Amino acid sequence: MPVYQDDMAACAEAATIEYAMRVLRVADIVVCGHSHCGAVGAKIRGEDLTGAPAVRDWLAQQISDELPKDDEPTVSAAVQQHVREQLNRLRGYPCVQERLAAGEVNLHGWFYEVHTGLVAAHHPASDLFLPL
Ligand SMILES: [Zn+2]
Repeated sequence: MPVYQDDMAACAEAATIEYAMRVLRVADIVVCGHSHCGAVGAKIRGEDLTGAPAVRDWLAQQISDELPKDDEPTVSAAVQQHVREQLNRLRGYPCVQERLAAGEVNLHGWFYEVHTGLVAAHHPASDLFLPL
């Protein structure tokens, strides 16, 4: 999702978050990343996406340049970092802030391991993803 801004353009993701918070009043938001993610993998490997400009531009907006970029990038670590970043972006939305302040919504960061079915949850205290 985009970083919240007071003057942000109309945006499906922002509208969805706002509807969930202020109309549906959902009690839990789960941001779930997954292993073997082609999008995050392409980003951290610096793949040439000139043939897929819509994907390239979307990734540029969605995925921070601060993802790990070592010689042997691990997609899972990058995906987990992406989940942390998306949780932080959620906390920037006023409609989320107000429900958090009221204790009416919980944010969860999950990581789904495609090949094993394991789901790990982000623990804010340790900043680790541990099996549910
Ligand atoms: Zn993916």
